[in-house]
Amino acid sequence: MVSIAIDGPAGAGKSTIAKLVAEKLGYVYVDTGAMYRSIALYFLNNDIDCEDEQAVLSACQNINVEIKYEEGVQQVYLNGENVSTAIRQETVGNMASKVAAKKPVRELLLQLQRDIAASKDVIMDGRDIGTFVLPNADVKIYLTASVKTRAKRRYDQLVEKGETPDISKIEADIEQRDYQDMNREIAPLKQADDAIYLDTSDMSIDEVVEFISSKTK
Ligand code: C5P
Repeated sequence: MVSIAIDGPAGAGKSTIAKLVAEKLGYVYVDTGAMYRSIALYFLNNDIDCEDEQAVLSACQNINVEIKYEEGVQQVYLNGENVSTAIRQETVGNMASKVAAKKPVRELLLQLQRDIAASKDVIMDGRDIGTFVLPNADVKIYLTASVKTRAKRRYDQLVEKGETPDISKIEADIEQRDYQDMNREIAPLKQADDAIYLDTSDMSIDEVVEFISSKTK
C-alpha cells in the first residue's frame, strides 16, 4: 500500500489539495480532522467539559466513529449517525482543537487511521500523520501558508456560502488553533524530519497538486 501524509496548520489547504491528488492518483482521501471534529460534536451536543478527565474518559467509551466511502467521498458516522455536514461549523473546529489534545481521544482514533492506511492507497491529512500515525509514509508533506493567506481563504469560503464573516475574528481563531495544535503535549503539530516543507502562499492549487503527485513516481 502507498501512503502520502499531509500535515499542516488550519486553513493551509490540506483537504482541497489532498482531494485533488487522490483523484489524480486514484487513492483514497482520508480526512482525519473530520474524525476529531465528530468527537468534538459529541462533546458539544452532550455538554461535556473537556477539562474534566473523568468525563473525557467515559465519553470516549460511549463514542463510536466510523468512516465510510460513499461514491468515493468520505462520510463520518458518529454512533451510527452521518455527521459529515454538522462537523463543518467553526464552533466544532475550534472544539476539535481542544478535544484533540486529550490522550483518550487520540488513542480512540489512532487505530482507525492506521487500519484505513493498511487496507488502501491513501492520502491522509491531519496534524500528526507523518510524525506519528504513519511514520513510514512513502511521501510526507508539511503544507503551510501565512496566517493572513489562510484567514483570507477561510473568509472567501464563508462568503461563498452566503455568510458575512469577520476576517479579524477568523485570523484570531487561526492563531489560537495554531498555538493549541503546536504546543500540546501529545502529538503536537510539527514538521516530520523527512517531510517536504511547502509554503503555498504564492502557489496555485494546480502547482501544489502537480508537485505532490510527482513525488510518488
Ligand atoms: O483539519 P481540521 O481543521 O478539520 O481539524 C480540526 C482539529 O482537529 C485541528 O485543529 C486539530 O486540533 C485536530 N486534529 C489533530 N490531529 C489530526 C487532525 C486534526 O489533532 N490528525
